[in-house]
Amino acid sequence: MSNILLHSLPTANCLTKPKPQNSSISFHTSYSSPTNSSVSFLCEHSNSKQEQTQKCKDGLNLNFIRASKLLKDLSSWGIGGPCNYFVKVHNQTQLVSAIRYCHEHSIRFIIIGKGSNCLFDDLGFDGCVILNRIEFLESNEPGIYRVGSGFQFNKLGMQCSNEGFTGLEFAGGIPGTVGGATYMNAGANGQETADVVDSVEIVKNDGNFQTLNRIDLKFGYRTSPFKFMKDLGSIVAVMFKLQPSGSAKRRLQEYLERRRVSQPIGERSAGSVFRNPPNLGIAAAELIEKAGLKGFRVGGAMVSNIHANFFINSGGSTSQDMLDLIAFVKEKVDQKFGVQLKEEVLYVHPYCNDLNPNRDK
Ligand SMILES: Cc1cc2nc3c(=O)[nH]c(=O)nc-3n(C[C@H](O)[C@H](O)[C@H](O)COP(=O)(O)OP(=O)(O)OC[C@H]3O[C@@H](n4cnc5c(N)ncnc54)[C@H](O)[C@@H]3O)c2cc1C
Repeated sequence: MSNILLHSLPTANCLTKPKPQNSSISFHTSYSSPTNSSVSFLCEHSNSKQEQTQKCKDGLNLNFIRASKLLKDLSSWGIGGPCNYFVKVHNQTQLVSAIRYCHEHSIRFIIIGKGSNCLFDDLGFDGCVILNRIEFLESNEPGIYRVGSGFQFNKLGMQCSNEGFTGLEFAGGIPGTVGGATYMNAGANGQETADVVDSVEIVKNDGNFQTLNRIDLKFGYRTSPFKFMKDLGSIVAVMFKLQPSGSAKRRLQEYLERRRVSQPIGERSAGSVFRNPPNLGIAAAELIEKAGLKGFRVGGAMVSNIHANFFINSGGSTSQDMLDLIAFVKEKVDQKFGVQLKEEVLYVHPYCNDLNPNRDK
């Protein structure tokens, strides 16, 4: 019998703490944190792991760690308070059990990979964070890769390119997982994930599986149909179909070098904060730079001096610092150029009422 390690919080009143007056959920459109400056955690954080083993209907034991897992340790920005429940899953069976458990107990949940595109709130998350580490890779035919959704996207890009297949060279240097990249339709250098997806295996909220063929999936610029699926539990695995190419390995190296010189590697960021505005021929980074905002900071949050669309946690940034910086930059760019930037990063509201709050609203 497999065990799922669930990290969680020890207080009894995690779920009963008074909610903000207006707890309507604002995702990706307006950023308003439920508290202003003083941070009161959703759950009292304790360093001692309080494990709580739950026997699920399918017989699997889930070890919930209650309220001791800080989201800042799960996010590339290094921001975020405790979550009520935490569980790390290493295979499909564990993932399904965790989702079923949340579903049956009406616990809101979010699946995360490397947390490299998420802004968590200092209040934490009043629900269950499922950390996906389903990391298999199978390749039974040249150029065809079936990959677990928790597999590192960067590693996949390197492996395919080094084996002489084109389509995922851009993935080199992207610090997310295959699931996160598919959900976000990650891309760079004129390539995107959707170009090489052949099919996607998902599990729904009720624990049932489905395989979706690429032809039935409508991806867009940094978006995917998964953001709008009401009953999506999680992406479980993705099949990629790549074409042979003698120059893929060289391109991978070029792209990695381009990143090295143009991005604040080693700093705490979430990649590009804003999507590039459509049909303008000018990147969000250029607009922010032209607005004179490189190096601008709010508390510990700062516009990178190297790449203006990367905002970095220069030390001790709160979620509110980052939200304020995002709002400020949006306003300035709008005032100066009349362009309304749209966020690419996802803000995870601590009290989202939705069972699966990571959907694009
Ligand atoms: C230094 C740096 C460079 C970056 N460069 C790029 C770039 O060039 N191009 C680019 O597009 N992005 C880039 N990013 C952003 C980010 O790495 C990508 O969007 C990545 O694909 C996110 O993957 P993740 O596993 O970290 O997702 P997370 O941040 O963990 O999650 C993102 C969203 O996907 C959902 N999700 C994650 N896994 C699953 C799953 N298995 N099933 C269903 N939903 C899931 C989450 O719920 C969440 O809503 C960069 C980030 C950093 C820090």
